[in-house]
Amino acid sequence: MAEIGHGGREIVERILAPAEAKKKIKGLKAIPIRSQLANEVIDLAYGWFTPLQGFMGKADADGVCRNMALADGTVWSIPILFDITEAEISDYGIKDGDSVLLTYMDNPMAIFDIEEIWDYDMQDMCQCVYGTAEDKHPGVARTCGYKEKFLGGKITLVNRPKINPPYDPYFIPPLEMRKKFKEKGWSAIVVHQTRNVPHTGHEWLMKGAWAQAYGGLPIEKPLCGVLVNAIIGAKRKGDYIDEAIILCQDELRKSGYFGDHNHLTSLTFWDMRYAGPKEAVFHACIRVNLGLTHHMYGRDHAGVGDYYDPYDAHRLLQGIPREKLKITPVYSMNWLYCPHCAEITSEGLCNHKKEWQKFSGTLIRSIVQDGVKPPRLIFRPEVFDLVMECGEKYGFGSPFVTDQYLENRTPVFSIGPLSA
Ligand SMILES: [Zn+2]
Repeated sequence: MAEIGHGGREIVERILAPAEAKKKIKGLKAIPIRSQLANEVIDLAYGWFTPLQGFMGKADADGVCRNMALADGTVWSIPILFDITEAEISDYGIKDGDSVLLTYMDNPMAIFDIEEIWDYDMQDMCQCVYGTAEDKHPGVARTCGYKEKFLGGKITLVNRPKINPPYDPYFIPPLEMRKKFKEKGWSAIVVHQTRNVPHTGHEWLMKGAWAQAYGGLPIEKPLCGVLVNAIIGAKRKGDYIDEAIILCQDELRKSGYFGDHNHLTSLTFWDMRYAGPKEAVFHACIRVNLGLTHHMYGRDHAGVGDYYDPYDAHRLLQGIPREKLKITPVYSMNWLYCPHCAEITSEGLCNHKKEWQKFSGTLIRSIVQDGVKPPRLIFRPEVFDLVMECGEKYGFGSPFVTDQYLENRTPVFSIGPLSA
């Protein structure tokens, strides 16, 4: 039976077997791509971006900017673009209707059937997607930094990525993910979007969302799961290192704060755009494709600085009819520590507001930097030990991204020579 994803369309999978791939790539011009595009080639080929089958043409990108929808009306909020310079177009001799071979790490990765060469007013695109064209917004800087032309057309993967340890168990593409959910018998699954190592505030965010999704289930099908879906892509200095994020999230299951019966950790390749509300809608689209029924949105979801009101994302999502975006939103509250209750509590729950201690990113960061084990109500000891260990093992002495990490880290995936 076909698996149906976002927009009511069958989950896209565009991957050739090695023998066929070898034949098809013969004689194609090779164009090397950077990591952002390699991430997106994987997302396209494995169906994370269903119904997209390739990089956008102008009509889709314009629809996304004007109406937050593809040309056919499917909800979509972030343009998926393949940028190229005019000089490259003429050097490679690229024309509409050409097929080229995209290479990554000097090896063949995907065939790109070019249907359209186009351009766009990028200031206008930024204003539409980010609500600003200020280049101190990191998404705007990325988008306005694109080369001046775009190529639209379908992508076919010719060489599957080799996912390097310790990430390999966490690469679960949409069709595989849906199979896993069936095996687990989960009839509701709520996703936790993260770029963090979890403290107990995050843990309770997940537990609260789990209870909310669980609450709606029929008694004969009572199983409900939490999927942690870490966004893995370009890093900024001071972020947690990817190894710490993914392993520490999974540690909550391994140490029994959750279990196999209700918790799974996975990753999605994507370079964050920090588009706030628009990025929240985009996250929802890809999570529909992963087979999720519920999506958590925290305060200031995927925001940056003070560009977005903390609840802009909730407002935008509430305005989209459910039949157009088939995933139930779970708007999460802020969990915090109440010394009076001596427990983790939620905003609006107990009446000791004056005593509440919020989980500030800065506080947690200073705890981790000091390396002194915090109270278990703030940070689970197993998670704390593991974040320290990850710093030693993968982070050149720090669980936070440094220049040394950026230069010398093991890539999350590699593209090797094409073997048949
Ligand atoms: Zn209290």
